[in-house]
Amino acid sequence: MAGDLTRILSRLIESTGPISLSHFMGEANTHYYSSRDPLGSDGDFTTAPEISQMFGEMVGIWLADMWLRSNGQSDKDMDSPSNRPAYVELGPGRGTLANDALRTMAQFNVAPEVHFIEGSPVLREMQSAVRPDATWHDSVETLPNDRPLLIVANEFFDALPIRQLVATHAGWRERVVVRDGDHFMPLPGSRPMDAAVPETFANAPAGSILETCPAASGIAFEIAGRLAAQGGVLLVIDYGYEQDRLGSSLQAVWKHDKVDPFVDPGERDLTAHVNFAELARMAQARDAYIDGPVDQGAFLKALGIEARANLLMESAPGQQDTISQALQRLVDDDQMGSLFKVMAVRSAGWPEPEGFGKA
Ligand code: SAH
Repeated sequence: MAGDLTRILSRLIESTGPISLSHFMGEANTHYYSSRDPLGSDGDFTTAPEISQMFGEMVGIWLADMWLRSNGQSDKDMDSPSNRPAYVELGPGRGTLANDALRTMAQFNVAPEVHFIEGSPVLREMQSAVRPDATWHDSVETLPNDRPLLIVANEFFDALPIRQLVATHAGWRERVVVRDGDHFMPLPGSRPMDAAVPETFANAPAGSILETCPAASGIAFEIAGRLAAQGGVLLVIDYGYEQDRLGSSLQAVWKHDKVDPFVDPGERDLTAHVNFAELARMAQARDAYIDGPVDQGAFLKALGIEARANLLMESAPGQQDTISQALQRLVDDDQMGSLFKVMAVRSAGWPEPEGFGKA
């Protein structure tokens, strides 16, 4: 059954011509996230915080450690903004990660203000059930500007719309989307885009695809600017790559299966792999320091997730299998352990982070 968005986009393409892939993906994901909770076994995909509380706990320990080592004390006057940071999450889903991380931070006497950047009204509602103390934002712009920021983004950047350039025998073109029967279909557009392609890739063979995510780059630049002004860190966890490369990583997921990204827009989750090299460049342009990316498995193990799993298993013997399976899903190389990467961005003057293999 074709959704509303199929009709809207078809009419748009009929009347104004092909739309860019980034327009298509942006519309599709806005509709998708605004109209449902996509998470969990009954939904389309499951994220790390939904697998186990241990994930959010490790993130909470990491943030508390960064804050305490940057600032030194937890017994300062909490009414002064510089002594009370803001926990900021980009795309918090059901609020599970925030809840687990903040509970863990509280055990270290770190009690930040809570700020969520979330586009979906459905997910805002779910988040408010677990964190009624949160303040919601549409973008980074309105985040508080008077205190340090402890920012987390798990599987957020992969949902932002990508632009693709495609090499043709006549030169590079932007990839656009047209209508083909009851399908949408990507095609090279008509405008020459050669000047937009870095020299390393200029002579790539016909069919090569160069993917960029202007929205992700812009957000990384803006956040790093805030960190420079206010102090703080950004922890990015996502699937992605560490060096600029060619190739399309656009994919669609529906009910835990990979499906065609050009069918039924707005009814399936569209994602692309995150270019960590690009995010790092954008942040470094604002004098931020970068650690990683490292594999999620290595990061979580360095923070002690195995010891945490053992403790949980001791206190709930009936849950041993569930806990050990959750641990494997999070850290094993053939599960999420090496597909997912972790990268930290920190402002000058903040300590070197744990978990990146430098200790
Ligand atoms: N971080 C959560 C959810 C990941 S799904 C978890 O790990 O479980 C992606 C999240 O990003 C959802 O909350 C979605 O609504 C939000 N999101 C996607 N695109 C967005 C955008 N452009 N602006 C704000 N939020 C967005």
